[in-house]
Amino acid sequence: MNAYDSEVAEGTLRAAGYEVMSEGDAVERKSQKVKGEKRGQAYEQNELLPVPFFAPDIILMNTCSVREHAEERVIGRLGMLGKLKRTNPDLIVGLMGCMVEEHREKLFKRFPVLDLMVGTRNIKQLPNLIEQVIKTRKQVAQIKQDGISIEYTELISRKSKFHAWLPIMTGCNKKCTFCVVPKTRGTEISMPADEVVREAGRLIREGVKWITLLGQNVNSYKGDVCVGAGLKPASTFSELLESLCHLDGDFRISFITSHPHDATEELFRVIAKNPKISRHFHLPLQSGSDQILKRMGRQHTYPEYKRKVDRLRELVPDIAITTDIITGFPGEAEEDYQATVNALKEICFDGAFIFKYSARPETPAAKLKDDVPFAVKNQRNHELLKIQKQMTDDNNQKRIGKVSEVFVEGLNERNPKQVIGCSIHEKKVVFFGDRLLVGAFCFVRFNEIKHETFIGETTK
Ligand code: SF4
Repeated sequence: MNAYDSEVAEGTLRAAGYEVMSEGDAVERKSQKVKGEKRGQAYEQNELLPVPFFAPDIILMNTCSVREHAEERVIGRLGMLGKLKRTNPDLIVGLMGCMVEEHREKLFKRFPVLDLMVGTRNIKQLPNLIEQVIKTRKQVAQIKQDGISIEYTELISRKSKFHAWLPIMTGCNKKCTFCVVPKTRGTEISMPADEVVREAGRLIREGVKWITLLGQNVNSYKGDVCVGAGLKPASTFSELLESLCHLDGDFRISFITSHPHDATEELFRVIAKNPKISRHFHLPLQSGSDQILKRMGRQHTYPEYKRKVDRLRELVPDIAITTDIITGFPGEAEEDYQATVNALKEICFDGAFIFKYSARPETPAAKLKDDVPFAVKNQRNHELLKIQKQMTDDNNQKRIGKVSEVFVEGLNERNPKQVIGCSIHEKKVVFFGDRLLVGAFCFVRFNEIKHETFIGETTK
């Protein structure tokens, strides 16, 4: 969702006459000492920080609040930008994204270097806010959680002409106790189904070949459908997917992120019968222990989750399933941790994002005692990553010799006689091919795997 928001910000600024450069264009990275504070303890660490090598007039950071580490990095950079501003007082420093929603105007006091903040639902106000800062040199903010949450816009600078993010809902009505998203992104709001289908059709006519539907909880989508003068009951996520698959053209649809509670048999059946839908399903488990899942407020038990995964694999046998795991949640005893180890081994995910728990301010879990020592969290995290690596390798080995549909994204920078693509299971694939293949789908046999990239060859 942040990647999409950045594309909208960039497109909006370009339309207003600004030149936009990405961090990579504007900075080099230098190791610097970063000072911070963790649980009341001051710390200093080395971090690679961006150092501008030519001077932009405005620096805008899009932020994430999901984990403490992401926030710490932004705070470190704000410190660095404070120094830069002393040498260039006209520099404008802005923040957008979830940190803005979480901390709001309090950040102005803490970081006088900040000139502007824009909420996730107010990105189009960016040019106005910049103008205000230039005119008044006062700190300005536009952070409003009500009003239109998603507004499709042609003012967007997409990173690829073939791939588009398409938000279909924002916010979340679940109450996972560790999660800051309901606070930063608000309650669920779905785009009307007709508008989603219209926008997808427009993207496909524009040449987009791969659309990723976005939402904090994408499969709890409920969008109005207009019928004549009235509305028929809201369309479910499965119904929306079906409607999108009926659009003309050669394209792929994928979606992130789903909640196990809303992963229904109906949805699995829609995936099974529509080859335009990606064979990758990201379904966060978070823990293999029912006791911990309950404390997390996850609304599913491990056996329920496992039954869903089994059913999905029955209906879509070649599906690649990935997950999220948090280790070291408050109260996670050795047997809870072992339950997660068993879950990873039993389900044998294609991949997993595994993180150490960090309390997010004002979440219900922040009131629980963070009682798993840091060293234990670290060790569990390390072990889970090792187990998952083995599971990922095992899954990848099973795909050797098989043929998969691949979307060709571009030339391989290391060897221009090769192209690079993404399989229907969202695995990276490299094979010999002509530049004319870029932007097309083709069938590729996987011959071997190197560092999680398949090496293949096209088949007839
Ligand atoms: S379902 Fe996802 S976004 Fe919603 S509260 Fe839980 S973790 Fe957060």
